[in-house]
Amino acid sequence: MKKRLLLSAILLPVMVSCEHSGRIIDPLPPPVVFVEPSAPASPRPAPTPPAPRSVRPIRGATIVVDPGHGGKDTGALGRGGMNEKEIVLSVGLQVARQLEARGATVITTRTTDRFIELSDRAAIAQRSRADLFVSIHADAAPNNHNASGFSVHIYNRASLQSQKAAYAILNAVKRAGIETRGIYRGNFYVLREHSRPAVLIECGFLTNAGDRRLLNDPAHRQRLASLIVEGIADYFGQ
Ligand SMILES: [Zn+2]
Repeated sequence: MKKRLLLSAILLPVMVSCEHSGRIIDPLPPPVVFVEPSAPASPRPAPTPPAPRSVRPIRGATIVVDPGHGGKDTGALGRGGMNEKEIVLSVGLQVARQLEARGATVITTRTTDRFIELSDRAAIAQRSRADLFVSIHADAAPNNHNASGFSVHIYNRASLQSQKAAYAILNAVKRAGIETRGIYRGNFYVLREHSRPAVLIECGFLTNAGDRRLLNDPAHRQRLASLIVEGIADYFGQ
């Protein structure tokens, strides 16, 4: 048997956050190690390739997609007038559309530029008995413009389901070669104030020139949305 480390999470101390996090960072348990069977020794017909990942349905799941901020709450600001609320709405709407296309029941906390209380977002997760709540944000590190990358955040006392969803989403993005920072625990209101499985995604840093360029590119936002959906499909397919 040949052991291969298929996934690992980079657990870095984080110095920064977007608003309302007040996060406390603890490392998660050690990364999961999968063992793959060794390759066949003699020539054999090639195995039938698995169905393309992009068409796997997600049926029977209720998923709340929560684009962060909105209205008077712009979220983090980047140079050139970029603001978090617009970037995350763009990504969030695409995530919602793609999840619906795969057969999931999707509830989106906002579909336009409007302000929504954190308590209302959490209440929607609870009331809908969401199988997964996905809050979408972008980071800012005003004192460290080198900070960059995609990360997933879960509540300090996150359920196993939340942890699994975070790993699945992070790894889908990582597999595609996009820079990832890892998974972090934190004390986010929208993860704490309901009992449903929940993750908060930070799509990248508006204070980093490279990330800002990417997040300003509609093609990158679309790709990111597809990868997030891929990760969600992986989670529900487990
Ligand atoms: Zn935010």
